[in-house]
Amino acid sequence: MVESSMCNHKLEDKVTIITGGASGIGEATARLFADHGVRMIIIADIQDELGQHVAISIGAHRCNYMHCDVTQEDQVKALVESTVKNYGQLDIMFSNAGIIGSPTTHQTVLDLDITAFDRMFAVNVRGMAACVKHAARATVEGGVRGSIVCTASVAANHGGKKCTDYFMSKHAVLGLVRSASVQLGEYGIRVNCISPYVLASPATCLVNGVGVEEVERLYEGNMLLNGVTLRAKHAADGVLFLASSESELITGHDLVVDGGFQLTRSVIS
Ligand code: NAD
Repeated sequence: MVESSMCNHKLEDKVTIITGGASGIGEATARLFADHGVRMIIIADIQDELGQHVAISIGAHRCNYMHCDVTQEDQVKALVESTVKNYGQLDIMFSNAGIIGSPTTHQTVLDLDITAFDRMFAVNVRGMAACVKHAARATVEGGVRGSIVCTASVAANHGGKKCTDYFMSKHAVLGLVRSASVQLGEYGIRVNCISPYVLASPATCLVNGVGVEEVERLYEGNMLLNGVTLRAKHAADGVLFLASSESELITGHDLVVDGGFQLTRSVIS
């Protein structure tokens, strides 16, 4: 646990849901939230064994696992309702569950596979919207000044040479965050997103067909900041800031966690 004298995040009374919390950025965020004393963290995922393992390792007093496929709105609704029923309220939704694709769905627009496209949009866009919808409803009904954080990507601000459906889906997350923040401001609910650059996770290992070290080696040199390796913890730090009262006047914002990658794309030499 982080020393209370160092911790200004005021998260001790907060109830949180993290979708895609069994792995990667979601798992790192669950662990960081626990370190900062968040009252209860619900990890929601489709990888039940992994999710339960993460929850148990954090501790049952602070973290529970619940199966939720975000493509199924009834499961998202049940997740939010059971959280409110069991813990009295929902304060923070980290809507993070997402897929990046696989080497075989590495498509350009010329060979776009519409079945894979639909699957991508079902998780990354429709699932994200369902999580924002039900979290927003619960916080409005509960009179809570909640914080909703979504995971977008640097892909939300760029075109890609491949993975067309992924790039499109992350552009849609920005549209969701901007619209929801406009609509929910009157209730005191903030909606933001983080946009990480490529970091090693099961998803990026799968899509590149290589291991963790190779993913890190492939992308490290593209960042402005030399000598750093972007890790899931760096993305989690951004989520913690957006979830907490440290960012209480920030809404509709896309917090880019990219070691300066985007800036390198706009420099004229
Ligand atoms: P990950 O594969 O480690 O984690 C994603 C989690 O989401 C997994 O536990 C998976 O089981 C879960 N998930 C997938 N489909 C789901 C569904 N239908 N319902 C519920 N859970 C589901 O990958 P990650 O890299 O940590 O990705 C997390 C998010 O970060 C994604 O939205 C991804 O697009 C985004 N992102 C990742 C990177 C990166 O480089 N790793 C960069 C930018 C954005």
